[in-house]
Amino acid sequence: MQQVTLGRSELRSSRLVYGCMRIAGDGGSADRDRGKRAIHAALEAGYTQFDHADIYGDGACESLFGEVLQENPGLRDELLITSKCGIRKAGQPEADDPKRYDFSYQYLVDSVEGSLERLGVDTLDLLLLHRPDYLFNAAEVATALETLHENGRVRHFGVSNFRTSQVKLLQSQCPWPLLVNQVEINLHNIDALDNGVLDQCQRRKITPQAWSPLGGVAFEAWSNTFTPEDEARIRTELEHQAEVYGAEPWLLALAWLLKHPAGIQPIIGSTTPARIAAAAGALNIPYRREDWYRLLEARTGRAAP
Ligand code: NAP
Repeated sequence: MQQVTLGRSELRSSRLVYGCMRIAGDGGSADRDRGKRAIHAALEAGYTQFDHADIYGDGACESLFGEVLQENPGLRDELLITSKCGIRKAGQPEADDPKRYDFSYQYLVDSVEGSLERLGVDTLDLLLLHRPDYLFNAAEVATALETLHENGRVRHFGVSNFRTSQVKLLQSQCPWPLLVNQVEINLHNIDALDNGVLDQCQRRKITPQAWSPLGGVAFEAWSNTFTPEDEARIRTELEHQAEVYGAEPWLLALAWLLKHPAGIQPIIGSTTPARIAAAAGALNIPYRREDWYRLLEARTGRAAP
């Protein structure tokens, strides 16, 4: 698997990241076994970065991954473990508490302790702030990150779903470079092409990571706005390109992300071993600019202006 350097750091990672959001399934033993098989498939295919969040499966995804680490001594040192925090569910701790984002000092520090405990590790390689807290005080967040760093709990930091102004604000208070901005990028959600996120990543050498890279292709995208006509147009173009490149259509959707010069890392969320392995095939597609624009045209339904 191709390796890349994360942001302005020495950290090396597989170009594709394995996303652990679905590994615990419904929490039953059959789904958990399936999740473990998925993790092993990712390891065998050469993925070295595993993406978590404290809220995935309500903590069950981190716990399952922790079991795999425990069953495979020495494995932890071969991997980059990323996790996220900052989203609080409704009803916690008080029954009438709303869903909210929380970047307050104590909440961030305590959340990381919870992730480390579930994963059974001493340190996270990368911590991402999951969704921008509208009430975040950049100086307070920076102090929390500094505490986590000084205590050896987190090696590096990044953000997720941040606007460019929020990256700039947080970076202004942090002594270390933010390495990653993890946002939704797929054929349905192409906001990052126009909202400055990818430009900022390229300029500041922040690694963009694409969550749900197959949204709108393999499954209905979040907040889907595609009409049946949109879907048919995109499917036709993907199938055409699949023939041209001799690859499955969904791999072309990944190649489309990989083509961007900001160096997008797609986060693969499948729990099917064959798909986890096959996704790496997208890295070998010699994808052409002309086809990138053809797919954009199929996505938007109009020629580039
Ligand atoms: P994804 O890889 O776009 O989608 C995975 C889903 O698509 C699975 O249900 C998978 O089913 C299905 N799938 C994949 N390939 C397929 C194919 N060829 N044909 C049919 N179905 C296919 O990504 P995701 O799981 O939505 O997200 C990836 C990761 O991003 C997550 O694990 C998480 O780490 C991260 N994430 C981050 C945020 C954030 O706010 N930062 C939000 C969402 C997700 P099978 O499992 O059955 O193969």
